[in-house]
Amino acid sequence: MSKGLLIVVSGPSGTGKGTVCAELLSKTPQLAYSISATTRQPRDGEMDGKNYYFLSKEEFERKIGEGDFLEYAEVYGNYYGTPLGKIEERRAAGQDILLEIDTQGALNVMKRCPDGLFIFLLPPSLPELERRIRGRGSETEESLKRRLGSAREEIEIGRQYTFVVINDTVQRAVERIKSIMTAEHCRRDKEDMINEVLEK
Ligand code: ADP
Ligand code: 5GP
Repeated sequence: MSKGLLIVVSGPSGTGKGTVCAELLSKTPQLAYSISATTRQPRDGEMDGKNYYFLSKEEFERKIGEGDFLEYAEVYGNYYGTPLGKIEERRAAGQDILLEIDTQGALNVMKRCPDGLFIFLLPPSLPELERRIRGRGSETEESLKRRLGSAREEIEIGRQYTFVVINDTVQRAVERIKSIMTAEHCRRDKEDMINEVLEK
């Protein structure tokens, strides 16, 4: 069995990563989501152990010290990190894993896991990005300004990713990511597929 894919999705806050990843997961039962840890407060409806592992700053810093994270970053004044968990063991068993993380974290994963598929989710335009963040209604005016202020810089980082996917509609963005996954499986599994046919 060939190794599972490590799919890393990033993009500016409000571009629709959470929405697109949730839809992708619901349509792709063989894909496992890596639940991140964070020190930010849960939003309405978010659950510990489902959306994030919500930790105190002290707990998070202890875990950093113990080497428990594949990567971590400070984003808008809070820590966010990917628990190492058993990511490599699960991939070795053929499991595809999805990480939804910020660009600093993704650049670190590029160094540690260069075989990852790095997908940058792009909003159709900057005014549409602002409409989406405002529409979500989760940010204070100050936090919204901070997020919009760093959007241009973050989009520049998208140039370093393997793929860019525009989130114009959720369905189209999900289809694009699914196509990337299918193409990548066809490429990486070619030896196994050929051997299987020849051995039959
Ligand atoms: P992120 O996880 O990147 O911060 P969210 O998934 O929370 O972004 O989406 C931000 C807002 O934009 C939400 O209100 C969501 O419903 C909306 N949204 C996401 N994708 C689209 C889309 N393709 N078209 C219109 N609105 C969208
Ligand atoms: P939010 O607070 O809107 O849920 O997330 C803020 C930012 O943190 C988003 O860009 C999100 O992708 C990023 N993020 C979520 N989990 C992780 C993680 O484990 N590591 C890193 N580096 N960023 C993360």
